Amino acid sequence: MRLVLKYGGTSISTAKDIQSIAKYVNSLLKQNKVTVVCSAINGTTDDLMEISKSIKKENKQKAQQLASKIINRSKQIAKQTIKKSELRKKLLQKLDEDFKELVALINGMILLGEVTPRSMDYLNSFGERISIKLISFAIHDTGKKSISLTGKDVGIVTDSNFGESKPLMDTTKLRVSKTIELLFSKNIVPIIGGFTGADQHGHITTFGRGGSDYTATIIGSCIKADEIWLMSDVNGLMTADPKIVKNAKLLKEVSYIEAIEMALFGAKQIHPRTFEPLLTKKIPIRIRSSFNVKNEGTLVTASPSPSVKNTVKCVSNILHNGLIDIRGGSMLGTPGTAAKIFATLAKAEINVMMISQNPSESSITIVVKNADLDKAVNALEIALLGKIIKKLEVTTDVAIIALIGSGMRGTVGVASKVFDAIEKNKINVAMITQGSSELNLAFVIKNSDSQDAVKAIHDAFKLDKIN
Ligand code: ASP
Ligand code: MG
Repeated sequence: MRLVLKYGGTSISTAKDIQSIAKYVNSLLKQNKVTVVCSAINGTTDDLMEISKSIKKENKQKAQQLASKIINRSKQIAKQTIKKSELRKKLLQKLDEDFKELVALINGMILLGEVTPRSMDYLNSFGERISIKLISFAIHDTGKKSISLTGKDVGIVTDSNFGESKPLMDTTKLRVSKTIELLFSKNIVPIIGGFTGADQHGHITTFGRGGSDYTATIIGSCIKADEIWLMSDVNGLMTADPKIVKNAKLLKEVSYIEAIEMALFGAKQIHPRTFEPLLTKKIPIRIRSSFNVKNEGTLVTASPSPSVKNTVKCVSNILHNGLIDIRGGSMLGTPGTAAKIFATLAKAEINVMMISQNPSESSITIVVKNADLDKAVNALEIALLGKIIKKLEVTTDVAIIALIGSGMRGTVGVASKVFDAIEKNKINVAMITQGSSELNLAFVIKNSDSQDAVKAIHDAFKLDKIN
């Protein structure tokens, strides 16, 4: 098989992690053509982002300290990972070139006193520049040929939207497939840095946080992979958070659209664009653990086999949100009210997680993160109170409970089963939403009721017997 294995940062924390990745990849090479996409060493991207923040705050010392932290940690891991001394020396030399460039860049940014999206992407790309070399040398250490390539090296060309770029797929496909086919023909294992590419002028761009998943599916679609494996520290997608529900089960198979919904709520965050390159190619993804490779994980496909089309597949909860009930003066029957409310929130850069309005149009209820609550209320008060809004009522610390499963579509009785289970636990529901896709049913309750609610729904739909 042609496989693309993507390793997340949590799978690349120690020398031992990197050695076991190398050993595992080596073992797959007997029967497969393998391309590895990797994230930065756990925590490195956070540190790089912190450097930008420090420079913005003119805290030169902190920026330089963080750079030393990254450099020292990477060096230490490099020394512990590679057994053959010749290789180790070569790796350290190569890394030194990256470290010099990193320090020069940071000093340049400090001198300018300026952090632009473009310089930030350049800076943030160093995490993956380091990790690809560690993994590539570790594979070499096990006796296989390997090469490390950044997104730019392998041929990922993007637009110039720094921080949130998109690949130009036609050019990317031509370049990436040419590069990788050549390496395959020479039995060299490509280790590709996730998260980054370069625009048409050669400037480094990134896909945004968690972008390595996206790199993996871009590469997978360019080389017509048979499967893409997202390797991280979770065994796969679960029916519920196992910390809440003791008998939560690993889901064996879900669809792309279900996985997208689940990724928003669950333990395994997936970059939102990850599935885009696969919609035409329909390449299956497996979500698996790098620490438990015997476990096959969750298979994500365009259309799962009919036997696994349960109505509800998982129930998850998001804690610590705030609910704002917006009541109208002139809201009733006035076109443009919702537009004004959401434009105000957008201007204040507030992400709205849930929205509902009843047909009487007397109020609109929204849910935002607790952290955004004050900002949201302030913005609405300043812009609209006394005009189209008469009153704002705020409830803090609410939980969103979301049920996901494409089998809900057209199935009668799902909602009654849900709210029956909730009622039996004497839990009060503050808000309910269901999109017309019927893929996701969500409702809002008090934080303190959320564990009982998740357990009750998991039981009601017998999710412990799902597979
Ligand atoms: N290293 C990047 C991040 O932490 C990309 C990734 O992990 O996928 O966001
Ligand atoms: Mg990451």
